[in-house]
Amino acid sequence: MEHIKIFDKTFKPYIRHDEIMEAIDKVAEKINNDFRNSSETPVILCVLNGSIVFTAELMQRLDFQCQLASIKLKSYSGTQSTGCVQTAMGLTCDVKGRTVIVVEDIVDTGGTIVKLDSILKEAGAARIKICTLLFKPDSYDKDIAIDYVAKEIPNAFIVGFGLDYDELGRGLKDIYVIDEE
Ligand code: 5GP
Repeated sequence: MEHIKIFDKTFKPYIRHDEIMEAIDKVAEKINNDFRNSSETPVILCVLNGSIVFTAELMQRLDFQCQLASIKLKSYSGTQSTGCVQTAMGLTCDVKGRTVIVVEDIVDTGGTIVKLDSILKEAGAARIKICTLLFKPDSYDKDIAIDYVAKEIPNAFIVGFGLDYDELGRGLKDIYVIDEE
């Protein structure tokens, strides 16, 4: 794996594709254990665009019936969270009375999760579960529980496997971290 350059920044290899697959296997197993014997059909909520790749991999591993929906929020500009989370596209299905499993690419400060939680409660969701591929525990300062975490990472800006730097890098199979040197 080589260093890569996107616009002005250089990124170095960080999490290999096979490690990502193993982490997704494990988190999918936890979700399966919680929902396999339930009679309900949860909504899997893909948070666009970053979670597309993770949601696709996760759904193929779920062995219970579920429905796919999406929503699009925006908080990042370049490599910094703006702190202001906006809805770019609303919920694509009615979640009233439903269990919703939110699928995030990464939980950083948690601002996006707080916004999602309030949107879903407002829409009448009966139960909300949060699943994320990556979690930055040192940055997270909110009270909402993150139910399913595939992998914890330190505070650093990463790209690949759905995550972008100004909309580029989402198609990379591996995850890269910014190289500050
Ligand atoms: P939060 O609202 O938790 O601070 O940030 C969540 C969103 O910010 C994520 O869904 C993602 O779009 C973006 N984000 C947070 N950390 C990173 C990162 O290290 N790399 C990239 N590419 N996006 C990030």
